[in-house]
Amino acid sequence: MADERLLAAADLLQRHYGRLDLDVYRDSWAGLVRFTLERQLSQSKFAKAWPELEASWLLSVEDVARSTRGELLEFLQPFGGNATTVAVLHRIAVWWQQQVEHGLTPFESAHSNLESAWSELSQHDRIWITRIFCVIGGLQKYPLTRASWRVACRHRWLSWYDDSDEIPEFFEQGLRDSPVELGQFAEWLIQVGDDYCGPKPKCAACPLQPLLGPSGICEPDE
Ligand code: SF4
Repeated sequence: MADERLLAAADLLQRHYGRLDLDVYRDSWAGLVRFTLERQLSQSKFAKAWPELEASWLLSVEDVARSTRGELLEFLQPFGGNATTVAVLHRIAVWWQQQVEHGLTPFESAHSNLESAWSELSQHDRIWITRIFCVIGGLQKYPLTRASWRVACRHRWLSWYDDSDEIPEFFEQGLRDSPVELGQFAEWLIQVGDDYCGPKPKCAACPLQPLLGPSGICEPDE
């Protein structure tokens, strides 16, 4: 059963931000590259860079997997790409090619073995990869971002003292069998975190303000 609080938040966030056009990204390497770069570059940098990138070897997963990280960084740096984005894209491309060579479909593999495939990566990179596959591949794994944690605890949906491993599960269960896609919801909360719910919350202007109860926000030392 869907969590009514999350559905109410989704409704407000959809009205404020609109919906992502998930079909632009879904189930393709091109979509994965686009989604990743859109989130790393500023809107204007991305708009300027994308026509050239779209026609380049970056859209060939084989070529990216065959390249070295250094070559990929050298190629993407003039467009604003950084080492973290390069590391994540390169790691996914190599893994993607391995799946293809084993006769597997990468997005199906991600559903069954994402955690074991990326267990050696840093938590930051694992969250990034979960985020990417949640949007691009419809993976039912919620990326545990700082923004989601803040919003959930400040609204008392969760406690600041809950085990952080329980946070993704809260969103996964709360949106199960609901019309709201997990990846779309995660992107909304990341956006609201960037725009309003940072270390110093700007509740008065925030689209989620109507969901605060009479006692207001909950902070960790309460
Ligand atoms: S800024 Fe305030 S209203 Fe907005 S999500 Fe954070 S706690 Fe909620």
